[in-house]
Amino acid sequence: MTDFTMEKGADGVAVITWDVPGRSMNVMTMEAWPELEALVDDALADEAVKGIVITSGKETFAGGMDLNVIAKMKESAGDDPAKGLMDGLMGAHGILRKIERAGMDPKTNKGGKPIAAALPGTALGIGLEIPLACHRIFAADNPKAKIGLPEIMVGIFPGMGGTTRLVRKMGAMAASPLLLQGKLNDPKGAMKAGVIDEVVDDPLAAAKEWVLSTPSIVKPWDEKGYKMPGGAPYHPAGFMTFVGASAMVNGNTMGVYPAAKALLSAVYEGALVPFDTALKIEARWFTNVLMNPSSTAMIRSLFINKEALEKGANRPDVPDQKVKKVGVMGAGMMGAGIALVSAQNGIEVVLIDQKQEAADKGRAYVESYLDKGISRKKITPEKKDEILSRITATTEYDALKGADLIVEAVFEDVGVKAEVTKNVLKVVGDDCIFATNTSTLPITELAKASDTPEQFIGIHFFSPVEKMALVEIIKGKETGDRAVAKALDYVRQIRKTPIVVNDARFFYANRCIIPYINEGIRMVKEGVEPALIENAAKLVGMPLGPLQLTDETSIDLGVKIAKATKAAMGDAYDDTTDEVLFWMADEGRLGRKSNAGFYAYDDKGKRQGLWDGLSEKFPVAEEQPELTEVQHRLLFAQVLEAVRALEDGVLMDIREGDVGAILGWGFAPWSGGPFSWLDMLGAEYAAERCDSLTDAHGERFACPALLREMAEKGQSFYGRFGTGVDSKAA
Ligand code: NAD
Repeated sequence: MTDFTMEKGADGVAVITWDVPGRSMNVMTMEAWPELEALVDDALADEAVKGIVITSGKETFAGGMDLNVIAKMKESAGDDPAKGLMDGLMGAHGILRKIERAGMDPKTNKGGKPIAAALPGTALGIGLEIPLACHRIFAADNPKAKIGLPEIMVGIFPGMGGTTRLVRKMGAMAASPLLLQGKLNDPKGAMKAGVIDEVVDDPLAAAKEWVLSTPSIVKPWDEKGYKMPGGAPYHPAGFMTFVGASAMVNGNTMGVYPAAKALLSAVYEGALVPFDTALKIEARWFTNVLMNPSSTAMIRSLFINKEALEKGANRPDVPDQKVKKVGVMGAGMMGAGIALVSAQNGIEVVLIDQKQEAADKGRAYVESYLDKGISRKKITPEKKDEILSRITATTEYDALKGADLIVEAVFEDVGVKAEVTKNVLKVVGDDCIFATNTSTLPITELAKASDTPEQFIGIHFFSPVEKMALVEIIKGKETGDRAVAKALDYVRQIRKTPIVVNDARFFYANRCIIPYINEGIRMVKEGVEPALIENAAKLVGMPLGPLQLTDETSIDLGVKIAKATKAAMGDAYDDTTDEVLFWMADEGRLGRKSNAGFYAYDDKGKRQGLWDGLSEKFPVAEEQPELTEVQHRLLFAQVLEAVRALEDGVLMDIREGDVGAILGWGFAPWSGGPFSWLDMLGAEYAAERCDSLTDAHGERFACPALLREMAEKGQSFYGRFGTGVDSKAA
C-alpha cells in the first residue's frame, strides 16, 4: 500500500497522485516522505518526462500532518530527541528543496523541470507546504475548500518550509495573519492574498499545460538580488512590521505559547540569511517547539483526545440514540440557547415556559441570533426560516408527545424542578430520557422526582450555550447506560464536546473554577495588589483573572453559591472570602451587570481599570508576594481540585479532565489541562510545592494522597492512567 503513485503520460507529464488508502483525507506520515522522494527522483531522471504535476486522488488535497505522528515525534526521535527531530526535519526539507530546485544547475539556475501543484480542494498545513515548494499552484474553484497553515492553532507552527517560503513569497506583513493566526482562505481568497497562483475549473489540466509551456521556474529567492516583499524585517522599511508583530503576539498570548514566539524568531532570523540557512533556522525553532512539552500536550488534549471524546470514546455500547425531538423546559437564557443549538442541527424542538410570552421570548432570542447571522452573511434567510420552523414555543405540555429527550432548564430550585419533571413524565413516552441542566443540584436528588431514575441524567451546558464548546454529562447513582448514550449522541448532534462525570457537588468544571475565584478574592483580603493577582493569572495563560471572572459571572451569584455551600458543608465551610464578597454585594457592586465590581466600568458598560475603592476597605500590603507564588496559588487551587475529583471518582478519565478544563473554563490551554500541567511539573515537584503552599497558606493545598503516591513511585498521570481510570496501571 502506498500513499503516492506516479503515472507518466505520453504528453511528457508525470502526474504524482497522493491518495492515502483507507482515509477520507490525505495526511502526511513519516513513512510517506521517502515514497514521494523516490517518485520525484524517478521523474527528474527520466528524459521522457518534461514536467511534473503533484495532485490528489481525493476531493481534497490534504489535511496536513497526521497529528498522532506529531504528538509522538519527540518520543520516537531516539536517545537524543532534539537531534533526531532536527535530522528528520532536514530530511523533509531536502525533499521539498529537491522539488523546488527540480534539477536546476546550482550555479546558473538553468535546466530543471517545472513542477506544479494541482489542488482539487482543501490544502492545509503540510498539504500547503508541499505546493509552496512547487513552481506554481493551481486550485479548483471550490468555495468550500480551505487553504492555509493552521499549525499555530495546535501549538506548533508551519515547520516544513511553510514559514520561510510564505514570508519570502508575500512579505512578513502580509504573511502574518496567515502564520500567526492560522487564517484560512477559500481558493479565491488564497489567490488574492498571494498564497496560491491560479483558481481554475480543472486544476490538473491547467497544471499539465503550464508545466509543458513555462519558460522559467526559478523561485525569486533563488535569484540574485532577491528582496523580500514589503522589506526585510531588519530593514528600516520592514522594521515596524516586526515591532508590531512582536507586540501583537505578546499582547494576545502573554508570551505563554512557545510556538508563536518561535515562529517570530524563525521569521526574523531567517530573513537575515540566504534561503537554505533560513530553512535550517526554521527547523531549529520547530525542533525547539516540538521539544517543549506544551506542544505535545496541546495536540494531545485539543485535538487527539477532544476528537476521541466527540467520537464517543466513553460511550456505552448501546444502539444509536440520535435525538429526533427534544423538549426544552424553561425558555430563559439557557433554554433559549439549548433550543437554538438543537434546531440548528436539525432537531425538532418544543420550547416550554410558564407563560406564552416567556416561551415566545425564548424563540425570539433564537430569531435575533439568526438575524445577526444573516447580517454577517453566515446564513441565508431561507436557512433562518428552516431553523426557526423547527421550534414550537408553547405552554402546552401536550406538544411534548413524541419527544425522545427532555432538557430541563427552569429555575434552580428542587421543588420547581421536581414538579416540572413529574408533569413532563405524565405526557412523554416510556422511553424518553429526561435531562436536567442544573448547575449545582445533585442529579441523584433530582432523579427522585422520576419513577425511572435510570432514564434521568444531567446535561450541563455552559453559558452562552451557542458559544461554549463543552457539555458536562452527569450520571446520577441510578443513571443507566442508555441515558448516557442518549446524552452523548445528542451532544454529538449539536457538535459540542462531551465529558461524562459522576454526581458530586458542582460536578467537575464548577468544582475546579470556584477555588480559583476564591483564591483570587482571598488574596485581595490578604492585601495582595489586585493588579498582581489579575496579571499573574493572565501571564500563566488564564483567559480572565479571578476578579474579572467574578465580575463577569456576577458577585451575587458568588454570594448565592457561598451561602448554599455553607448550608451544605456546615462547620467544614471556610468563610475567608465571604467578607470581601458580601461587602461588595452590600455596596451594590455586583459585577459587570451593575456596571460596578472589582473593576470600574464606564456608562456604556466598558470595563476600565481595577476599582481603586477596593484598597480603602482592603489595604494593599507593603510587601508583595513573588509572581510565581501568586501563579502557583491560582493554578494549584484548580489542579488539586481536579486531582481530588479523580480520586473521588467524579472524573473517570484524565483526558476528560484536561479537555473539560480547557473548553469549560479556559484553563491555561498551553498546558494541555490540569493533569498535563502536573505531568510537566513532575509529581515529585508538584507534591513538594503542595507542602510549601500548605505551610504558607493552609490546608486547602494539602497534597492529595494520589499525587503523593505518584510522587513516591515516580509516576505521571498520563503514564499511570493513560486513557482512563479503568486502565490504571499502578
Ligand atoms: P432563567 O431564569 O434565565 O430561565 C429560567 C426559565 O424557566 C424562565 O424563563 C422561567 O420562566 C422558566 N420557568 C420557571 N419555572 C417554570 C416551570 N414550572 N415551567 C416552565 N418554565 C419555567 O435561568 P437560566 O439561567 O436559563 O438557568 C436555567 C437552569 O440552567 C438553572 O437550573 C441553572 O442553574 C442552569 N444553568 C445556568 C447557567 C447560567 O450560566 N445561567 C449555566 C448552566 C446551567
